[in-house]
Amino acid sequence: MKIVMLGAPGAGKGTQAKRIAEKYGIPHVSTGDIFRANIKNGTDLGKEAKTYMDEGKLVPDELTVRILLDRVAQDDCKNGYVLDGFPRTIPQAEVLDGELKKLNEKIDFAINVDVPDDNIVNRMGGRRACLKCGATYHMTHLPPKTEGICDSCGSELVLRDDDKPETVKKRLAVYHEQTQPLIDFYSKQGVLKTVDGTVDAEDVFRAITDILDKN
Ligand code: ADP
Ligand code: AMP
Repeated sequence: MKIVMLGAPGAGKGTQAKRIAEKYGIPHVSTGDIFRANIKNGTDLGKEAKTYMDEGKLVPDELTVRILLDRVAQDDCKNGYVLDGFPRTIPQAEVLDGELKKLNEKIDFAINVDVPDDNIVNRMGGRRACLKCGATYHMTHLPPKTEGICDSCGSELVLRDDDKPETVKKRLAVYHEQTQPLIDFYSKQGVLKTVDGTVDAEDVFRAITDILDKN
């Protein structure tokens, strides 16, 4: 099963993608997590990506596509995966489609987690992220068991540099301009499923599993 998560930054794609990955036994592939791991490790890729990320811009397609295709070519992806934060542009989606076609494969579901912009700004300010294992929390909606500490790996939780309100506004503008057209792209392929992302994370997950289990 190959799944693409769509939605604005902060809509809950990562939160849901991790649950999907766990329930269906497929890897969670987040381009944002891959970039953050590279930044943390001081690689050249990380240094280049950081210049865009800190400004709320997208990392260029060429670089992003390369790291994504490398990742999904790994053995653990052979029975499917859930993509979180990729594709973010039509050219990215077209390259992915082209690569899948060569293998006689396709994206089975594009899950659009729908949340209005007003809710997003509030969510991002409260988001706390673990840069070690990629887990995310929200100070009030989804708090960790111990304040400031990751439930999964015990590392310290941080406010991401790009979650500051000014950057969030820029990221939302970039989303509407470059990423939202993917809703139409996957709708035309007949694989788009939209869920209400404003309800509790548990209820969003139930709506998603209903879709995945019925189809
Ligand atoms: P994305 O991956 O789309 O950028 P995240 O999954 O990191 O978004 O979620 C953004 C923030 O909102 C996080 O702090 C997360 O804990 C919180 N969150 C996720 N889903 C919900 C929900 N259904 N209700 C309230 N807060 C949520
Ligand atoms: P995310 O963790 O998905 O919110 O991504 C954080 C940041 O990483 C984005 O704001 C972009 O700067 C960059 N990024 C992640 N995925 C992509 C992508 N598919 N295309 C371009 N930039 C990306």
